[in-house]
Amino acid sequence: VAGYLEQIKACKHLNALNEVFADEAISQAKQVDSKLKNGTAGKLAGMVIAIKDNICYKGHKVSASSKILDGFTSIYSSTIVDRLLAEDAIIIGRANCDEFAMGASNENSAFGPVKNYADTSRVSGGSSGGSAVAVQAGMCHAAIGTDTGGSVRQPGAFCGVIGFKPTYGRISRHGIIAYASSFDQVGPLTNSVEDAALLYSVMAGTDEYDSTLSRKPVEAHPVHADTSKKRIAYIQEAVSSSGVDPEVKANLITYIDKLRADGHTVEPVSFELLDYLVPAYYILAMAEASSNLARYDGVHYGYRSPAATDLTSTYKKSRSEGFGKEVKRRIMLGTFVLSSGYYDAYYAKAQKVRRLIQQKTNEILNQYDFLLTPTAPEPAFEIGKGETDPVRSYLADIFTVQASLAGVPAISLPAGNNSKGLPLGLQLLAKRFAETELLNFSEYFV
Ligand code: GLN
Repeated sequence: VAGYLEQIKACKHLNALNEVFADEAISQAKQVDSKLKNGTAGKLAGMVIAIKDNICYKGHKVSASSKILDGFTSIYSSTIVDRLLAEDAIIIGRANCDEFAMGASNENSAFGPVKNYADTSRVSGGSSGGSAVAVQAGMCHAAIGTDTGGSVRQPGAFCGVIGFKPTYGRISRHGIIAYASSFDQVGPLTNSVEDAALLYSVMAGTDEYDSTLSRKPVEAHPVHADTSKKRIAYIQEAVSSSGVDPEVKANLITYIDKLRADGHTVEPVSFELLDYLVPAYYILAMAEASSNLARYDGVHYGYRSPAATDLTSTYKKSRSEGFGKEVKRRIMLGTFVLSSGYYDAYYAKAQKVRRLIQQKTNEILNQYDFLLTPTAPEPAFEIGKGETDPVRSYLADIFTVQASLAGVPAISLPAGNNSKGLPLGLQLLAKRFAETELLNFSEYFV
């Protein structure tokens, strides 16, 4: 813990952590030390973890990197925090993120962007950017993020660490600040597949506070490198589309060739719904977000405008002043697609498209063991580029939102660097609940 605290100090300029629990982490470490001596330590003894700042931890502030939660302290812990602590993990701080997990560059945080440790002029990715950089820069052993449409996997890829999103319904969302509830999943960011599997197995499983969880037994630990020959599909457009960076394409092709040389079957498939992934995701995620964020009214939580004079002005002024620009954009668009007269044209249609995407994805995954894609169409871009062009940043989610729409597990694995030394990631998708197969095969890439 002392070593990590030193590194956190040295990396302050990266802006990865919103708060460091220094004294508390030291005293937790002392307790773990004595448990280790008397043989009662849990599975995560000594693992120092940062948690994304949208995960509730009793008695600690939680902000979702938003001004609207200013001064708010959690009155209970999320199920995952309870489970991590029960196995003697040490929580070192809360990690910066895009406001309410809305974004893919961490530039939407009320506390400013997180800088990529590989090149500090570039973004960390998002929305779990602080979690990814904390692991990348050695400020902790592992970090926990949330992934609604790629927020664990894409910053993982931008920072050269592993980012794992389990099947929807595997890890409890109780105590996680909701963005889009039918997509939100907790996931670990780690340096090894072994750590990802361990953290996953500790966090996963039924919880009486989240009725969407599966009752299927959890079994993803330990990892056994799987050397059997696999059938792997890749989406043809990932190597033919002009929207994908040439070095990202070349890297995918290098891995396809390597997999083939090692005896795996790797075949192109065409996914005709590719152009519908991003629109369907954003319509549904924004609709759910507009509903989830209705609770921040200036009364129940955090920030209240000092200029408020009556109930209506409390709502209006607190929300106008408390939410950032991107969050407001999404509340307005989400409200619009849900409004009477437009509901069928946008929201209901997007639900139908989601079903088709699920069916088509499952069809591919029934014929193949895995689907391989780049995690993102380009490596980490310069700070400032995403913010000025939101559509460009939405389109960059093209490869990650498929697993979120379909609810299947997906992992981003570090797959070398580009010519500028920026990390590149490859993503593997697997069948629902095939976490064990996915993690075992992931060893191939590391
Ligand atoms: N970039 C996507 C969005 O902004 C995904 C974010 C996430 O997974 N939380 O919605």
